[in-house]
Amino acid sequence: MKALDELTFDNRFARLGDAFSTHVLPEPIAAPRLVVASPAAMALLDLDPAEAETPVFAELFGGHKLWAEAEPRAMVYSGHQFGSYNPQLGDGRGLLLGEVYNDAGEHWDLHLKGAGQTPYSRMGDGRAVLRSSIREFLASEALHALNIPTTRALCVIGSDTPVWREKQERAAMVLRLSPSHVRFGHFEFFYYTKRPEQQKELGDHVLAMHFPHCLEQPEPYLAMFREIVERNAELIAKWQAYGFCHGVMNTDNMSILGITFDFGPFAFLDDFDAHFVCNHSDDQGRYSFSNQVPIGQWNLSALAQALTPFISVEALRETLGLYLPLFQAHYLDLMRRRLGFTTAEDGDQKLLEHLLQLMQNSGVDYSLFFRRLGDESPELAVARLRDDFVDIKGFDAWGALYVARVAREGVVDQEQRRKRMHAVNPLYILRNYLAQKAIDAAESGDYSEVRRLHTVLSNPFEEQPGMESYAERPPEWGKHLEISCSS
Ligand code: AMP
Ligand code: MG
Repeated sequence: MKALDELTFDNRFARLGDAFSTHVLPEPIAAPRLVVASPAAMALLDLDPAEAETPVFAELFGGHKLWAEAEPRAMVYSGHQFGSYNPQLGDGRGLLLGEVYNDAGEHWDLHLKGAGQTPYSRMGDGRAVLRSSIREFLASEALHALNIPTTRALCVIGSDTPVWREKQERAAMVLRLSPSHVRFGHFEFFYYTKRPEQQKELGDHVLAMHFPHCLEQPEPYLAMFREIVERNAELIAKWQAYGFCHGVMNTDNMSILGITFDFGPFAFLDDFDAHFVCNHSDDQGRYSFSNQVPIGQWNLSALAQALTPFISVEALRETLGLYLPLFQAHYLDLMRRRLGFTTAEDGDQKLLEHLLQLMQNSGVDYSLFFRRLGDESPELAVARLRDDFVDIKGFDAWGALYVARVAREGVVDQEQRRKRMHAVNPLYILRNYLAQKAIDAAESGDYSEVRRLHTVLSNPFEEQPGMESYAERPPEWGKHLEISCSS
C-alpha cells in the first residue's frame, strides 16, 4: 500500500502535446475538507485508505497542492449536444492531472472536476457544486458495485468557496478515475476541424493505449470501432436492465471505452416508466429512458462519421448494424437472469414486455419487484406482488405464465433460486431521494449520511442489518425531484 507521495506518474496523453490539451493549473477551493472517499477506488491506485484522512489528501484534491510529476491539462473536444453539433467544447471545469500506474501496471487518469476555469470554460465559472459532486461520486461507485462499467470516483472535497447557480452554493471537487478520458467528441473535433494528421495521432494513441489487441487485426481502426460498438451495446443493455437513466447522452459525454461517463442529471428508476426523462432541461425527452437505446446507435453513428477518413463507409455501416442485435441479446440475457431463468425460451421476450407494460400501467417499483420475486417461491412471490398492481387480473395472468415458465425448468431449490436471483437483483439502489437526503445533510456540514449511503451502495446485493430504510420506496416528495444540467 502506498502513501500519496508514492504515486508513479506516466502522462501519456499530455505528451501528445498542445494540439490535444492545454496546460492549466487547478484553482484551489477555500478550506478544503474531505466529504467522502472510496476505499475501493483508492485501492485502484494501491493507496492506503488511511491516506484519505490526512490533510494533504484534501489539499491535493482541493487544488492546493500538486505532485511534481503531475501535468494538469484541459483536453479539447467537441460533440453533438441534444442532436446539434457544437464545434468547441473541451474541459471547461475539469483537468486531467496526469496518469498514475499501479502495481498491476494499469494506468488511471486522475481527473479533477471543478478545478476552475480553462480556455474551454466559455461562460462558465469552472466550478462544480457540492450537490453535483456528491451525485457523481455516489453514482460512479454505485454503478461499479452493480457491475455496470463506469468511471470511478476517488473522493469529494468540499469547501467554503461560494458559487452561484439558482442560488448560492459551495464549490467542491471530485477526483474521477478512468483508464481514459477520450470521448466520441475528441474524434469529432479533429474530423470537423479538418485535421486528419492529428486525428490519426489521436486514433493511434487510443489504439495503442486502450485497444492494443486491435493492432493485430488487418484493419485496426475498424476492429477498434467494432469493439466500441460492442461495448456500448452491452453498456446500454445494462443501463436498461437496471433502470439507469444517464440524462445527457451527448457525444461529448460518451466514453471511447464504452463506460458510463460524465454524470449530470442521471437517475435510477423508482417506479418503472419507459418514458421517464430524468433531465429537467430535456424538454423534448430526447434522452428519455427508452430512447437511450436508439440514442446509443445515433451516437455511434456520429462517431462513425468522424472515422470516415480511416474506415470505409460500407464497413462502418455494417459494423453499426451489429449494435441493435447485440443490445437485444445482452438485454434479454440480463433480464432472464433478473427473472430467475436459467434457460432461454423463445417466448421470454414477450413475457418480459408483458410484465413491463403491467409495471408501467401500475407504477410498480422497478428494483424492488425483481428483488421480491426471488424472496419466495414463484407462486408465493407473485401472490404477494399482485397487490402492487392496479390491474390485478392482468398481473394474475402474467403470474400464471411466469410460474409455468419457471416450472418448465424442472424442480427448483428455492434457496438456490433466491441466492441466484438476489445476486443480480439489488436491494439498494441510488434513488434520487436518498442522494438528496445525503446532499441536504452535507450542505449543512454533516457528511455522515453521504458516507453511510456510499457504504450501503457499495454492497447493493447483500442485505445489510439496520439499513432497511435504504431499501424502501421513495416518499411522495422524493418521486418528483427536478434535476437539471446546471451543476
Ligand atoms: P456537461 O453537460 O457537464 O458535460 O458540460 C458540457 C460542457 O460544458 C463541457 O465542456 C463542460 O466542461 C462545460 N461546463 C459545464 N459546466 C461548466 C462550468 N461550471 N464552468 C465551465 N464549463 C462548464
Ligand atoms: Mg460533459
